Amino acid sequence: MKYLGSCLCKTVEYEISGSFEDFFLCHCKSCRKDTGSAHAANLFSTNANIKWLKGEKAIKSYNHNNSGHIKSFCSQCGSALPNIQMNGKLLVVPAGSLDSEIYIKPSGHIFMKDKANWDEGLEQYPHYEQLPKG
Ligand SMILES: [Zn+2]
Ligand SMILES: [Zn+2]
Repeated sequence: MKYLGSCLCKTVEYEISGSFEDFFLCHCKSCRKDTGSAHAANLFSTNANIKWLKGEKAIKSYNHNNSGHIKSFCSQCGSALPNIQMNGKLLVVPAGSLDSEIYIKPSGHIFMKDKANWDEGLEQYPHYEQLPKG
């Protein structure tokens, strides 16, 4: 499988060849901080290769307290980008950065013990196709 991805400002574009083994929605505090949202949504692969099509020099990476919580992002627009962890063995791809459709379903929600107090039954709230009127 081939997947294409990019950041919001399109400075960085990449292509992934291979398949994903896991797709975790992580509610830990570090993921909540670095995404600004309820959870991160990351795909994991031990077999895929990534090729940077453009903008590789614009990528910055932050390793939180050298803990292995690594966030890579575009230095122009701040969008989350893939990175390689575990001495090159693990490719981690933020699902939202992909432009291609993905056919793997989430493997599960992890670190639910650290979730935000408003992160409860979110599906039950009103859904709008666009910004609500009024
Ligand atoms: Zn960008
Ligand atoms: Zn996390």
